[in-house]
Amino acid sequence: MGGVLGEPIRFILNWGRRYSLWVFNFGLACCAIEFIAASMSRHDFMRLGVIPFAHSPRQADLMVVSGTVTDKMAPAVKRLYDQMPEPKYVISFGACSNSGGPYWDSYSVTKGVDQIIPVDVYVPGCPPRPEALLHGITQLQQQIASEEAGPRARRRGQLRAPLVQPKSRDE
Ligand code: SF4
Repeated sequence: MGGVLGEPIRFILNWGRRYSLWVFNFGLACCAIEFIAASMSRHDFMRLGVIPFAHSPRQADLMVVSGTVTDKMAPAVKRLYDQMPEPKYVISFGACSNSGGPYWDSYSVTKGVDQIIPVDVYVPGCPPRPEALLHGITQLQQQIASEEAGPRARRRGQLRAPLVQPKSRDE
């Protein structure tokens, strides 16, 4: 987006996006409890501009993956991510979602959700405290503030490896 109005419009669009993040929580294990704590009155992530909770991924801007992603669950995570409209963002919350965590060597655990969807911010910990999620949200908002204008111009998280489709139960 060029011209005299390009920079102000980019600023306004990014300002609106970073302070109206409809969140879709993909809670898969114990880390989801910390996510819920972050949404409650003590930590209250609404004050940062995160809106709980989108009723479906089609209404969400931000997916937080909190918990252990198994190979059985991975296709569902990918499918719901694909249903989110652009621009969309992902926070990987906790060691399991980041890398498999304590179950990294399990035959059934995906070694990080970034093997199936691009991740914008990683929050470490087992489990991370709610304050760590608040920090991750502010990190994401700083990324959004520096995005270029245009539908796909923003910096995207990277996939670590191609999705290995888990075998179905019938095979
Ligand atoms: S990172 Fe730790 S607390 Fe979070 S889901 Fe895995 S085992 Fe549970």
